[in-house]
Amino acid sequence: MKNSTVITITTVHGSKSFTIGQFAKNIMGYAVFFSFMLFLGGGIFVYMLSAKVSDYKDIEEKYHRLLATNSNLEMNINKKENELGEIQEKISDIETMIGLEPKEDFEVGNRLDIAELDAQEKLLMLRNIPNGSPLNSNMVTSNFGWRENPTQESKQFHTGLDLRATINTPVYATADGIVEVARKESKIGYGKLLVLDHVLGFKTLYAHLNELGVKAGQFVKKGQLIGYSGNTGISSGPHLHYEVRYIGIALNPKSFVDWNLKDYGRIFEQEKKVGWESLSQGIKWQWTLLKQLSSQKEQRLQASLMSNANYTSTD
Ligand SMILES: [Zn+2]
Repeated sequence: MKNSTVITITTVHGSKSFTIGQFAKNIMGYAVFFSFMLFLGGGIFVYMLSAKVSDYKDIEEKYHRLLATNSNLEMNINKKENELGEIQEKISDIETMIGLEPKEDFEVGNRLDIAELDAQEKLLMLRNIPNGSPLNSNMVTSNFGWRENPTQESKQFHTGLDLRATINTPVYATADGIVEVARKESKIGYGKLLVLDHVLGFKTLYAHLNELGVKAGQFVKKGQLIGYSGNTGISSGPHLHYEVRYIGIALNPKSFVDWNLKDYGRIFEQEKKVGWESLSQGIKWQWTLLKQLSSQKEQRLQASLMSNANYTSTD
């Protein structure tokens, strides 16, 4: 038979032969081809699926890593928030200490800038303008103002403050300044006398001294020992006569003796003869200028260090 195939199947029961025609052969051929294609397609599909599964595993791993990172970040944020809380409390303490209202609504950086400027301004004012007592003790025996003259029995304006002091009690400068007068003459008026010239228009005067510790023209720092109290000149007994003058006018030294960082604002109400606002602006201006100069100097130093490093790093 032309174009036909005989298939013989042999089993224990004997052999059987089948004759397959051309059409059936074609059908079988197509069936084999389609089965093969199906198998191939299935293989490709399984391969692609396994690649997807692998991608999914990667994504899952990344997700877990991100979760861990997120948890670490959250811990860090909590830690930083706690630290920020502590810093804000400390800034509040500083603000209170230097007499500012705590500004809790402001950003930390701004609060620090304000506190720094405020503290620097106050500290500069308290370095340059007389404040505190010229003695370690602070016992007033005669106030500033009209009084009965103890030596002449008549009314006289007392231009200073008398402080109790036994002979040779140490006397200290109440602000930075230059010794303008260091008079050793002990018989007349104020006796042995020191006058300090401070910046911003202030002078202080220390009279009836027993001994001078500084010379005219010498720079003295606030708190520096400048002499010893006594009873020289026209004096009713050992004491220190202390004066504060502003552009030539004698002011009540008591406000200045009581002036300090903790009780900073009261003097502005008590002593109206001083242009406090203008002095404060002047101090702020000087401090800003100093800060700018110092910052420029630092930048130049950094640039110089960088350029030196560049020279040394090349052979
Ligand atoms: Zn006096």
